[in-house]
Amino acid sequence: MAQPRILEVRKNILEKNDRLAHDLRQAFAHHGVLAVNFVSGPGSGKTELLRRTLIELGRSQRCAAVTGDLATANDAARLAQSGAPARQILTGTMCHLEAAMVAAAIADWDLAGLDYLLIENVGNLVCPGDFDLGEDLRVLLLSTTEGEDKPLKYPTLINTADAVIINKLDLAAAVKCDVDLLEANIRQVRPGAPIFRLSAKTGAGFAPWLDYLRQVSQRKQAGAPA
Ligand code: MG
Ligand code: ZN
Repeated sequence: MAQPRILEVRKNILEKNDRLAHDLRQAFAHHGVLAVNFVSGPGSGKTELLRRTLIELGRSQRCAAVTGDLATANDAARLAQSGAPARQILTGTMCHLEAAMVAAAIADWDLAGLDYLLIENVGNLVCPGDFDLGEDLRVLLLSTTEGEDKPLKYPTLINTADAVIINKLDLAAAVKCDVDLLEANIRQVRPGAPIFRLSAKTGAGFAPWLDYLRQVSQRKQAGAPA
């Protein structure tokens, strides 16, 4: 008897989230803000990727970030080193971000003064896939230290990604990662998505990633669907 009740509660949570995400998406569109939701497993280098992206984009455009973790405000402190506004979302026991958390975190920010909002999701390769945050782009990170078969083990989340980043390219040789095989496995699960090989730590391979964000942002600001 318990099962239908649990399914009903879950359906209500997802419907409420989708409504809030829709409102966020409209607000981002109204103000020409490109919102990017970064998802990955724990330890794949999201915070370092966001930190460098904020610094590089921030030379010419206005960026801000929110970052979700179960506990500690360490990531927001690291992101704030970039000079961009950064705010921590503490999720407690929740292993993903929901639209309501993002809405609350940015409630007193003036979206008209922003070009990019980078959202670092909680490190988790499963349920962030179910929760729309109103983003324009969902970017999935996999690092060379995670093994080549990660895409095959977690196809559901990868299937929802608009782009995939292979991070920690600088460590690939040391951990004997076959980057071509990793990329082939990503393409098998998520054909057609752009894939960027880079190292957030050294900055290697960063230019094509930044160009991609700028192009999507320009398309959005020109009124075309992002
Ligand atoms: Mg982090
Ligand atoms: Zn979760």
